[in-house]
Amino acid sequence: MSVNRVLELMKEKAIEFVDFRFVDLSGRAHHISLPATEVEAETFVNGVAFDGSSIPGFRGIEESDMVMMPDTNSCYVDPFTSHATLIIMCNIHTPDGERYDRDPRSIAEKAEQFLQTAGVGTAAYFAPESEFFIFDDVRYETSMNSSSFFVDSEEAAWNTNRKEEGGNLGFKIPTKGGYVPVAPVDTQQDLRSEICRLLQDAGLRVERHHHEVATAGQGEINFRFDTLRKTADNLLTYKYIVHNTARQFGKVATFMPKPLFGDNGSGMHVHQSIFDGDTPLFYEKGGYANLSEMALHYIGGILHHAPALLAITNPSTNSFKRLVPGYEAPVNLVFSKGNRSAAIRIPVAAVTPKGCRIEFRTPDSTANPYLAFAAMLMAGLDGIKRKLDPRALGYGPFDKNIYELSDAEKHEIRSVPGTMEEALAALEADHEFLLDGGVFSKDFINNYINFKRGEAKSVAIRIHPQEYSLYFDC
Ligand code: GLN
Ligand code: MG
Ligand code: MG
Ligand code: MG
Repeated sequence: MSVNRVLELMKEKAIEFVDFRFVDLSGRAHHISLPATEVEAETFVNGVAFDGSSIPGFRGIEESDMVMMPDTNSCYVDPFTSHATLIIMCNIHTPDGERYDRDPRSIAEKAEQFLQTAGVGTAAYFAPESEFFIFDDVRYETSMNSSSFFVDSEEAAWNTNRKEEGGNLGFKIPTKGGYVPVAPVDTQQDLRSEICRLLQDAGLRVERHHHEVATAGQGEINFRFDTLRKTADNLLTYKYIVHNTARQFGKVATFMPKPLFGDNGSGMHVHQSIFDGDTPLFYEKGGYANLSEMALHYIGGILHHAPALLAITNPSTNSFKRLVPGYEAPVNLVFSKGNRSAAIRIPVAAVTPKGCRIEFRTPDSTANPYLAFAAMLMAGLDGIKRKLDPRALGYGPFDKNIYELSDAEKHEIRSVPGTMEEALAALEADHEFLLDGGVFSKDFINNYINFKRGEAKSVAIRIHPQEYSLYFDC
């Protein structure tokens, strides 16, 4: 969209504020709003200044001046503000006008350019399935309970007793029993439908929504695949709309990978394919799951680099609490058609040549989508360049239930790293593939590892509730 078109759109929609946004190292959005009267054609040339030193993982205090440069192709009207506000995603530039090499959006765009210069195809497509939990918001609960207490203290006391006894379990979802039941078991139809409506208004093409496997409140909404950087932008819009619609319903939404011990966690399976113009390059009739050699090599690259890749696709201490057996989250570094315990699944039901793709099931939504999609593409492209055959390298295909394999067969299967520290050590040892074409810089990788090690340490030095059960009475 041209700058003039944005200025026209602002008039048409009676926009009062323009909200300029950028994304930080961990994938969180930040914003600065300007009154519409202050936004003119020049704003799009000069950008909007901000203090980079106050953003975790960005520059030091001595080089704090940064500039947001608006990307006019990525704007939508904020559905949550009471003053009409236009959101515009921005790239980050240094004061000298260079693109900032730690800007995740810049890295995502470099990965897309690298795909083209590598001569592999013209576009890579991504589609994330980002799961989330909706929980009651304690603040709203408290105010509701206290008001009912004053209105009818006897009834409030009865409710409290009933809660303490475990309540009436009719129509309640048991652990791991939440996959697609209708109302009244599913209590979140309206909330998810409202999210979908707002996503459509923001320009996303929503494909479906449903309750997920975990007990009350786990949901999933799928929107249509798109190119790498565009899909990362879409995911940011998605998280913003999920979080804020939940808030409007008096609830809170979280994308934390494993909020409940003993139940399914929330993943972000990522479907991926490469096209040359209109031609799907991952499809070849007759091969295993109709996959082309190129697709197999892409799989080989992802599985070969998986331990390092997980430091970017599963970048939280909590991520690794999800990657344990028994909860449909992958533990095994293998590929397979259909098998949901494999790290890479090839969807085969109702798939056309154009729909032929791989599904990497390991990632979760604590990933910065710009970095995660870029890193997965780089791993896949390295597999293509080096012709890494996942069959020769012992990554499957495994179509049997992996938990029923013989000990010898199980022995051969490699697992995902067990902790964030392990994944970070793997990234420290294996990141050459990310530096190809200057997509990621060495400085970026070092800074990223230090930043994430800081997070891991902040968790490790704190006292855990389980330590009380294990050791308090020693
Ligand atoms: N929640 C599961 C995970 O952690 C996936 C469940 C599903 O989509 N079938 O990946
Ligand atoms: Mg799904
Ligand atoms: Mg799912
Ligand atoms: Mg899936």
